[in-house]
Amino acid sequence: MNTTVDLHGLTPPDLAAHLRQNGVTVTDAETRRLMGWAISQGRLDFDQMPKPVPRRVRDALGTLTTAHRPRVLERVTDPIDHSVRYLFEAHDGKIFETVRIPLHKENHFSVCLSSQAGCAMKCDFCATGRLGLLRNLTAAEIVGAFCAVRDEAPGRVSGAVFMGQGEPFHNYDAVLQAAAVLSHPCGGRVAQKSITISTVGLIPRIEQFTKEGHKYRLIVSLTSAIDEKRARMMPVAGRWKVAQLAQALKARTQATGRRATLAWVLMGGVNHGQDEVEALKTTFAGIPLRLNLIDINDSRPDGYRRATDAERNAFMDALQILGMPIVRRYSVGQSEDSACGMLAGKASAALDDASGRALQAAPAL
Ligand code: SF4
Repeated sequence: MNTTVDLHGLTPPDLAAHLRQNGVTVTDAETRRLMGWAISQGRLDFDQMPKPVPRRVRDALGTLTTAHRPRVLERVTDPIDHSVRYLFEAHDGKIFETVRIPLHKENHFSVCLSSQAGCAMKCDFCATGRLGLLRNLTAAEIVGAFCAVRDEAPGRVSGAVFMGQGEPFHNYDAVLQAAAVLSHPCGGRVAQKSITISTVGLIPRIEQFTKEGHKYRLIVSLTSAIDEKRARMMPVAGRWKVAQLAQALKARTQATGRRATLAWVLMGGVNHGQDEVEALKTTFAGIPLRLNLIDINDSRPDGYRRATDAERNAFMDALQILGMPIVRRYSVGQSEDSACGMLAGKASAALDDASGRALQAAPAL
């Protein structure tokens, strides 16, 4: 049975398996060279490889594989932080975004990736959530977008974060397959520890992720440790309670020996009170944590507002009792609408306050 697959969604062993299933004899070394040329180098002119694979294999590639990248509709550079927002159009017209984020290290970048067009999670403070889920992206589309951004970067792309549109664990298999390609030495060449996956807390998938032993970083967007309040902002909390989330993270810290990272989208008048500190203290007692604090951006239509400096400082002071590292992150791209929640379909990113490194992107808030 002849089937066509997109090279962007494959690791070298995947390509070898696909070719062999279709009667093509190929060595592992040949598939590594092919994928290195196609994904690491971003080249599809296989005749030009310094050490070409046999002609029959190249011919088979022509009939058994494709290599499409989503079309770039728009690139917008933020004049202040120099992040670049890419708007992509998939083959079926679905729109999604990716943001290139400058890292503190000169000429190094991270890419904030979308995992879905739209999102089913409907977080109340998120513009993407208001779109609803349009569809899952394929691993090939995710990697294709990464390659398109990387090939235009004026330096090395050494990080990737799944914090653009969509809930990555709602599209688990495609996201993990994309991460496998991105981290492969013949693929995106991003270190596994430099790939971050963010989730609002789909517990079965967190447990699966832990059980499978992935080395990628995981961030759980908590935003409130009080079930009723969290459920009002994040409908996923109606299904899984904070205490269940804490148990899943406890198991994860035991398996990895590392702190669990929580993201906290800070909203003025909403989630910076002593009640939150107490809930965190009670529910996460004994679990080594790190907290990323992200200000929601201003100028929003949904009634949420950015916390004042006094509100934020009081919260950060109160959190000291928990003895965990607290890292404040900044959204990038605000001046060009690519920051959290400024417009539906705008991905966003955040800068590490302490080091100035743009380690992570924040969800489209
Ligand atoms: S914050 Fe993330 S999970 Fe929630 S609706 Fe937005 S994109 Fe989806």
